Amino acid sequence: MIIGVLLKGYSGFYYVFAEDRVWECSLRGRFRVKDQDFLPGDRVKILPDEGDKATIEAVEPRRNVLSRPAIANVDQALLVFAMTSPKPDLNLLDRLLIQVTDAGIEPIIIFTKLDKYEAVLTTGAEEPSITDVYRQIGYTVFEVSSETGQGIEEVRAQLVDKVSVLAGPSGAGKSSLFNALSPGKKLKTGEISLKSKRGRHTTRHVELMVCAGGLVADTPGFSSLFLPPMKRAELADCFPEFIDRRSSCRFNSCLHDKEPNCAIKAALENGEISAVRYEHYLIFLQEVIEAERRY
Ligand code: ZN
Repeated sequence: MIIGVLLKGYSGFYYVFAEDRVWECSLRGRFRVKDQDFLPGDRVKILPDEGDKATIEAVEPRRNVLSRPAIANVDQALLVFAMTSPKPDLNLLDRLLIQVTDAGIEPIIIFTKLDKYEAVLTTGAEEPSITDVYRQIGYTVFEVSSETGQGIEEVRAQLVDKVSVLAGPSGAGKSSLFNALSPGKKLKTGEISLKSKRGRHTTRHVELMVCAGGLVADTPGFSSLFLPPMKRAELADCFPEFIDRRSSCRFNSCLHDKEPNCAIKAALENGEISAVRYEHYLIFLQEVIEAERRY
């Protein structure tokens, strides 16, 4: 018996990745497993038969389940944004970071098109790059170029033995990144996009693909632009750079907006907190407060 990860179900068969190959599995009638609802990402015990055929004998309990698309046991979300052309939508990135954090999944930020970015860099005094901003907060950040291969090895190492979902706007180069990570497995450009994978029909065909020693979902794990429901005081929990500082705010209930003697605003004025991040915090705070009122 070997343990593998379910990639997809299709026409009554289940495709399982185990020991570096894909097995075509069926369910044996006498096992209760037949009544189970399987999801990509499920860890299953399989019994090899002839060739690449096997039967699924048991399913392990799930560590987490992501909905839309439904995937089990997700380790990390790869948030893919271009460094330039198009200019990264940092409001969307910060929104996705909140959704991912709220779902209890590790966010990994991947900035693409590093070659194009370096080409337009001007000399002289520079503001800290977006990479520096997010790295200083404590996020895991990669800068890559799918064209030149810069940074690709580092991302590959991050994928090994993990289940990852991809998210990010169209035009960020998700397909090119996937192809650079997994040469030979052509994914059509434009196949993964934030907008095109909606609706009941497509979500049922989610599958995990073998990529750089790990498994990657071919559809975005996070595509909603709405923030998850939360109380206004909880929003700051999703901003790691606020967490250590807020105990120094004068008021326990400080929302870091109009309150006096706010440690977050002091850090903003010192340049320790990014002005763009703080601006997004205020925008999101209004949205959370409005959503709170609707309940
Ligand atoms: Zn405060």
